[in-house]
Amino acid sequence: MKAYRAALLYFTGPAQAAYEADGLLVVGPDAQGRQVVQAVGSYQALASRFAEVPTEHLPGRIIAPGFVDMHIHYPQLDVIGSPADGLLPWLENYTFPEESRFSGAAHSAEAAGFFLDELLRNGVTTALAFATSHPESVNALFTEAQNRSLRLMTGKCLMDQNSPEGVRDDTAQSLADTEALIQRWHGVDRLGYAITPRFVPSCSEAQLRGAGELAAKYPDVWIQSHVAENKDEIAWVRRLYPEARSYLSVYEQFGLLRPRAVYAHCIHIDDEDRALMRATGTAAAVSPTSNLFLGSGFFDYEGAERVGFPYGLASDVGGGTSFSPFHTMLAAYYVGREGQTKPGLSLTPQQLWWQHTAGAARALGLEGVVGNLQPGYEADFVVLNPQATPLLARKTALAANLGELLFALIVLGDDRVIERTVISQASGG
Ligand SMILES: [Zn+2]
Repeated sequence: MKAYRAALLYFTGPAQAAYEADGLLVVGPDAQGRQVVQAVGSYQALASRFAEVPTEHLPGRIIAPGFVDMHIHYPQLDVIGSPADGLLPWLENYTFPEESRFSGAAHSAEAAGFFLDELLRNGVTTALAFATSHPESVNALFTEAQNRSLRLMTGKCLMDQNSPEGVRDDTAQSLADTEALIQRWHGVDRLGYAITPRFVPSCSEAQLRGAGELAAKYPDVWIQSHVAENKDEIAWVRRLYPEARSYLSVYEQFGLLRPRAVYAHCIHIDDEDRALMRATGTAAAVSPTSNLFLGSGFFDYEGAERVGFPYGLASDVGGGTSFSPFHTMLAAYYVGREGQTKPGLSLTPQQLWWQHTAGAARALGLEGVVGNLQPGYEADFVVLNPQATPLLARKTALAANLGELLFALIVLGDDRVIERTVISQASGG
């Protein structure tokens, strides 16, 4: 066992943040040997009970749950910050050429290692990530995540049409590869498989049908894809499926909406789509830096709350512009505030933080596992330095309440705030 004495941030309910200015976090092995939270609370209340436990004192620091990124593309590491005229030209000119390089094991392994270290440097401890269409890219990311004891989900991208040579796959082979990868990796250590149809235009009907059949056969495997990001993309889907009520309903018709199904964007959807997400337990990965960068539109938070489907935050690198959860939370605030194309609202700092930690974990079906600091949760956490820059030190010192402290970190923070990222390790034996 080990204890940490510092300020503590955790959640007692949706967007209900609790803060202990002088707290104690105790971590130790559970029955399976995983490092989990044993106790969390005020130092005064807990110190005598854990007097024997070695305690690291971190004065002036805040311990908080590790961040959870619901949607990110590891092969787009080098695509970040590429100028393009919106989604479809961006895919064609930058993304597909870069992804074709991941047919090689060496390039995949190097990129996977860099990608995971960059996540950790930014305080992200769990991610649902796209790989490329090459099985080698999936093996590389799982291997590097396993080496770092990370909780990570990824999968081979399915794309057998409307995609260039080098990334396009073969329908039957792609489904056989997917099933072999599920059997090799899903549930191994902290790894999970995600069935990954890229988006409707890049998948044939046979491929989408096969993906849905695998999703039914392996119900605790994740599904990840994209929906309703961009108006040109939606018009394309309408030409492919003129009969379908909406873009989202195409996924429904192939059995791809269910708990643990996560769709990036969900911008241009209506209340019937929202009700379909709620009824099927399908989650949205809200990707605000990406949506602002590619000019795609604004996620409707009011609609999401009114109808009540699961959602959380995502970086969507490389359409997204930052690995930093602080940048993503700030962009989510901008998107929420926008009130010309949809109702505008001010998300509270506690809501923003929840959406990138415990709320994201809940939307992924990982409530009780990661995203919070409560007894039994896996011990993935970050040590934050609220004085990481001169302006942050000045501003956080003025904070009169928790909301002001968290908002100062969201607006002014970046990777410099993340002093340390601690990952739950399985103890030996
Ligand atoms: Zn994406």
